[in-house]
Amino acid sequence: MAPLTRSCWQCGAACELGIGQTVQGGRLVWSAGYRCARCGQMVEEDGWGEMPTAYREEVLRVQGEWALEVGSAEPRIKVEVVRVLREWLGLTLADAKAYFDRIPGQVIRGTQAEMMYVKKQLSARGVDVEVRQCSGPTD
Ligand SMILES: [Zn+2]
Repeated sequence: MAPLTRSCWQCGAACELGIGQTVQGGRLVWSAGYRCARCGQMVEEDGWGEMPTAYREEVLRVQGEWALEVGSAEPRIKVEVVRVLREWLGLTLADAKAYFDRIPGQVIRGTQAEMMYVKKQLSARGVDVEVRQCSGPTD
């Protein structure tokens, strides 16, 4: 898959979009922007929470896929992990059960920032989890 591009709104040149995602102040934050190589125009958009699908796919392409691993099978830990995932993803009880059954082990995959976001929520509740890369960039 090729990098996402945008036509520079000032001169029309094709510009490669740089997309980032981080955790800031306990929230997932994303940004997408370009600096036009021809005219120097800089454009950036950003937002928080769920990022546009095309942007998310680009982040996965560049950073690879990451997984959240829960090492403990303690009921309290399982409940906390699923509670955080439910709040984040708005899971139904039936969906939540599927995640519950994956513990201990790899519970969910996503972007690095998404997994770090969940890890941070959990560590605030006294639950330690691992975030590991499970597939490399697909360039
Ligand atoms: Zn331009």
